[in-house]
Amino acid sequence: MATEVRQLMDTENYVCYNIRGHRSHEEVFLLGACSEADCEYLIDEKKGGVFMAGFDSVVGNKQIKEHFEKAIQLNKISHGYILNGEDGMGKMELAKSFAQMVQCEGTGEKPCMNCHSCKQFLSGNHPDIIYVRHEKPGVIGVDDVRTGINSDILIKPYSSPYKIYIVDEAEKMSVQAQNALLKTIEEPPSYGIIMLLTSNAEGFLPTILSRCIVLNLKPVSDEEMEAYLNQQNIPSDCIPTLVKFSRGNVGKAMRMAQSESFTAMIDQIMTVLKRADQMNIHELLGFITILTGYKLEIKDCLDFMQMWYRDVLMLKATNDLNLLIFKEEYAAIREVGNKKSYETIEKIIQAIDTAKRRLDANVNFELTMEILLLAMKEK
Ligand SMILES: [Zn+2]
Repeated sequence: MATEVRQLMDTENYVCYNIRGHRSHEEVFLLGACSEADCEYLIDEKKGGVFMAGFDSVVGNKQIKEHFEKAIQLNKISHGYILNGEDGMGKMELAKSFAQMVQCEGTGEKPCMNCHSCKQFLSGNHPDIIYVRHEKPGVIGVDDVRTGINSDILIKPYSSPYKIYIVDEAEKMSVQAQNALLKTIEEPPSYGIIMLLTSNAEGFLPTILSRCIVLNLKPVSDEEMEAYLNQQNIPSDCIPTLVKFSRGNVGKAMRMAQSESFTAMIDQIMTVLKRADQMNIHELLGFITILTGYKLEIKDCLDFMQMWYRDVLMLKATNDLNLLIFKEEYAAIREVGNKKSYETIEKIIQAIDTAKRRLDANVNFELTMEILLLAMKEK
């Protein structure tokens, strides 16, 4: 299948792959375009994702895609959408693909990747697709909403039928900011579409929720994840662990796949999870130095530990191997379970949550890990 000239802003990040998923030529092409006859995909080397047209770029979440496609076909596009799901599940990809499709000027299948609007979108410079920014990293304040949305939306679209505002991390909107947005969501101009992306839709005011269509992202199935990871040229021996670990979150799987230390990290954590009871305090605390090397991935480490103890609890309570995430580790899981009471296992799971909160609040890393590791030794 021939590839049309696709103009991309940040061409250095893109490498062309052919349709069989093999790297066909590695030169960075000046115009961000590939003219090879069998070339279909552009791969963003930094993000590691396959860049494809429209919703094909998003794994799973068929219902949301169908909802959007139907809305476009029937011309029943809502003025407010909430995309709700944990980080890494593809909220931004869905929102962007929807925005591109809504704005596409092509007459056939959308997005056509070829019209003026699609080219603007691909260059990252579509004047009527607006990514709402905020000044302070931790909060989207009332001024951000007033300037970024409320005033801007009064100006008619540049060249498209719609003006689409994408608000990432919308859970950071303060109550005042939400109230400021409410008026626009209640009486939007006919061309206005506001997309709020959030990992916690429950945090929105009921008035915001009732004015928007809430679409909840779902984890992708293990089969979909496996197929996707296979397409991404990931070493096949890593795939089963990634599938298990990511729990249907594609972004997480890719992040782990790109981490050079992923396998080593998992091995180390496994060792401590299995042997914490036998280790003396000195050995156990020596593990803090190892964990310090994975400071950047520590949240993933802690998630991994929690999944493990969830399995310990599950096996102890049900004795059913099929319910385990780490099935092949059942012997070690059973051994840990035999040594600990239900109450202790629950306490360890809570201690992991507490460790996550402490790290978020910038409590000393070594101290946080020390408390956690000692909790894992409890009987
Ligand atoms: Zn188009």
